[in-house]
Amino acid sequence: MSEASLSHILVIGAGPVGMTAALALRHQGLPVTVLEAEPKQRVRPGSRAIFIHKASLKHLDEIFPGLAGTFAADGIVWPVKRTFWRGKEVYVRRYPAPQPNALPPFTSLPQVRAEAHLFAACEAAGVQFVWEDGATKVESSPEGVAVTTQSGKVWHAPYVIGADGAHSVVRKQIGVQMKGTRSANTFIVVDIQEDEANPLPLERVFHYQHPAMDGRNVLFVPFAGGWRVDLQLFETDNADDYNGEEGVRRWLPRVMDKKYAERITWVSAYQFLQVVAESFCDAHARVLLVGEAAHLFAPFGARGMNSGIADAVAAAQAIRQALASGGDAAKAAVRSFEQERRAAAEYNRDAAGTALHHIQGRAFPINIQRRLAAAIAPLFPKAGRWLDEGPYGPKTGPSLASKY
Ligand SMILES: Cc1cc2nc3c(=O)[nH]c(=O)nc-3n(C[C@H](O)[C@H](O)[C@H](O)COP(=O)(O)OP(=O)(O)OC[C@H]3O[C@@H](n4cnc5c(N)ncnc54)[C@H](O)[C@@H]3O)c2cc1C
Repeated sequence: MSEASLSHILVIGAGPVGMTAALALRHQGLPVTVLEAEPKQRVRPGSRAIFIHKASLKHLDEIFPGLAGTFAADGIVWPVKRTFWRGKEVYVRRYPAPQPNALPPFTSLPQVRAEAHLFAACEAAGVQFVWEDGATKVESSPEGVAVTTQSGKVWHAPYVIGADGAHSVVRKQIGVQMKGTRSANTFIVVDIQEDEANPLPLERVFHYQHPAMDGRNVLFVPFAGGWRVDLQLFETDNADDYNGEEGVRRWLPRVMDKKYAERITWVSAYQFLQVVAESFCDAHARVLLVGEAAHLFAPFGARGMNSGIADAVAAAQAIRQALASGGDAAKAAVRSFEQERRAAAEYNRDAAGTALHHIQGRAFPINIQRRLAAAIAPLFPKAGRWLDEGPYGPKTGPSLASKY
């Protein structure tokens, strides 16, 4: 069976980036169908992305006015952040409350809730969804793309956006490889439901070398309805000793009130990949890769979903330009997207790598720098700030907002 519609754009994958791409295409006035491998009623595990940058909120509001306000109203902004060195506070910063009616500097919201808002916006914007029928084959030519799905249907489209995540079939089908490295040690990522009757203060807290965890780093990040606790293991640790609900119940009461050990909603162990696709489009400039189909970063700096949102907006803009121009100009529009977003991804990969090195590097210079900064932080607040900002990596560069 052939589903042919040469003006319809196909998006493969209904994750946050695929749904953003679909909304951005609708914003460009283009009809869109999203093909998703999983069923509509799926329950996605854990909260994963929680930190949504202002640049992403701005992008979302451009493509669906009011969406940033929906995200902000459902998320939280923490007014205080603290950093500790071996149990001693070395930095604290308090922020003024965000202006009413203005976009907050960020919002902290579980990815599942962000996805629910994106899906509602997609439905309102007229995006078509096909569930439980993932792409298995992608063939591009100078004229367009044919996508075969699990059910055997063949879809034809002038352009396809591949947003099918880390194990992207689309990327493999167009013959593009990922390049990069993997973090040496394991991170245990835990989500905990807040005790709403007696909540903790909304503070992001980072502990270098937490004394109660025998010197392992621990990060606490509040999000709407709960806490993300991130325990950074040593390379020599056996992750199984800390992983799973049982493992977490053994160590969590050392760093949080013991009641939270009964409020665990998700546990996962990661060795983070730091990889970027060698190209963000196929040889015919008809298939565009976005989000985790194109890049994977350690989450420090919250660059994964945020930069995926910028990829999606840029891809939709490039497709509109390509359809309007045709010929070589069409290819140039897609290749301009490819170059811009690949450069951004390489920057983000390196920035997340810098953050990893800052917080976990064991080499002599970074070890000394951290110790020295902690020692002088009471006298020189800049040193405390340097320790505090380490987990985010550099803030400048072409990272999160598309030029579009
Ligand atoms: C612990 C952790 C914390 C994180 N924190 C943050 C954060 O604070 N901020 C941030 O920006 N990022 C964060 N990230 C990264 C973020 O979760 C990802 O970048 C984001 O999920 C990527 O979205 P995506 O739409 O590209 O891919 P996915 O969310 O993986 O979605 C891909 C979709 O494609 C579908 N699919 C797969 N194969 C096919 C196929 N063949 N055909 C059709 N559909 C298919 C899948 O079912 C899925 O729905 C974090 C990640 C982790 C693991």
